[in-house]
Amino acid sequence: MRFAPGGSGNTVGAEAREIPVMLETDVLVCGGGPAGTAAAIAAGRLGARVTIIERYNHLGGLATGGLVIALPSLADQGRPIVAGIGLQMRDAMIETGEAVMRGRADSCYFDPEALKYLSLKLCLEAGVDILHHAWLSDAIVEGQTVRGAVFETKAGTAAALANLVVDATGDGDIFAWAGCGFERSDQSIGLDFRIGGVDVAKWQTARENTPDECADIMHDIHQLCDWGGPFELGAVLTAEGVVWGNNGLRVADALDPRELSKIDIQARLKIRKALELLRKRMPGFANAWLIDTASQVGVRRSRRLAGVYTFTQDDVAQHDFRHPQVVGRGNDFRREGIAYDIPYGVLVPQEMDGLLTCGRCVSCDDEALEPVRVIQVCWVTGQAAGTAAALAAQAGVSPRDLPIADLQETLRGQGVAFAD
Ligand SMILES: Cc1cc2nc3c(=O)[nH]c(=O)nc-3n(C[C@H](O)[C@H](O)[C@H](O)COP(=O)(O)OP(=O)(O)OC[C@H]3O[C@@H](n4cnc5c(N)ncnc54)[C@H](O)[C@@H]3O)c2cc1C
Repeated sequence: MRFAPGGSGNTVGAEAREIPVMLETDVLVCGGGPAGTAAAIAAGRLGARVTIIERYNHLGGLATGGLVIALPSLADQGRPIVAGIGLQMRDAMIETGEAVMRGRADSCYFDPEALKYLSLKLCLEAGVDILHHAWLSDAIVEGQTVRGAVFETKAGTAAALANLVVDATGDGDIFAWAGCGFERSDQSIGLDFRIGGVDVAKWQTARENTPDECADIMHDIHQLCDWGGPFELGAVLTAEGVVWGNNGLRVADALDPRELSKIDIQARLKIRKALELLRKRMPGFANAWLIDTASQVGVRRSRRLAGVYTFTQDDVAQHDFRHPQVVGRGNDFRREGIAYDIPYGVLVPQEMDGLLTCGRCVSCDDEALEPVRVIQVCWVTGQAAGTAAALAAQAGVSPRDLPIADLQETLRGQGVAFAD
């Protein structure tokens, strides 16, 4: 027996056991969201052996499984901000007609299946080994260095050993288990969805001609369904009548499975009710039907690393924030006129070696996370983390000792945008 009831009645005891090593690699990317995918592609393109471990059966994270299908602008007032892998993904979807512009700067809606496919394709072309259906459950740590991760599968518990680990779980699972410092905060959690069969032209005409009535209907639905956070609709594919439902139910602890389950359950009931009300009252929605609800609950924030550098609200609110250790640029989806260097230190833990992070759990203060957590900036931090991990693994150095000029030169060579 490996587990037995513990002495106090509300614990179980676990016996020490040997866990089989399923794989060894140069770079282990934990989590296959936008950040993890970009990290894996970047590291693979540099010739590193890379494995992604992802709990679900697809890549793209919240941008695909979470149905977060609105991609903000990759530029700011003519200044290129996001290039490299992010731009490659966005442009490939535009070329195939699987992303459509939204009319705000160069932001677009995209087909989540297109991003799943592209993320997979670019990973495979870069030689990345993908392990789905594996739920990371702990970090392997030797002294002050992360050596890999433990994960749960249908085949039992297994371990992955690596020269470098990239925590792209979005929630900072690996750095937390490894004992790194972090901060955390909560934000409204939602469950995005898509509606089909909408007469978008009719809806748009109503919004133009009778904006107050349409706003009242949305307000009533918000109240009647008791959405604690935002509830907004956007026309994704006008001709096909596809509408995106972005929302937030309530602020909750994103690391508590009971809370997440409650939100999933409540959201599905509320979406159904909202659709009924839309059908009855909103012009253009009489024949609307629910295409899908997200398979991945919409967590906006949880843990943030305590890194070598911590982004502040002031940094990311500047017209042109510069930093000597820049590894890419970011913008702000809420407003134009913002561009900031992303310092390498936001990816590097203060105290632990063998580990980098990227995506929505990088080192920043609570306010600074708002512009940094969006998809296009996650691609940038992901590409930087994967590149740094590959270079560090190849040079046999800790990420914190990687010569920044080498990293910057490699990123420039990959087409990443720098201010000059
Ligand atoms: C409701 C909502 C609306 C949003 N709206 C927008 C928007 O309009 N535009 C925009 O750009 N951004 C938006 N965002 C933000 C954006 O979607 C995310 O911040 C971004 O996808 C984060 O990317 P990531 O790679 O850091 O993390 P994630 O996308 O969360 O990916 C993390 C990946 O790691 C995997 N993972 C996590 N833990 C484990 C584990 N223990 N074991 C194995 N795998 C694991 C997950 O399954 C997932 O695939 C929104 C977010 C939400 C929730």
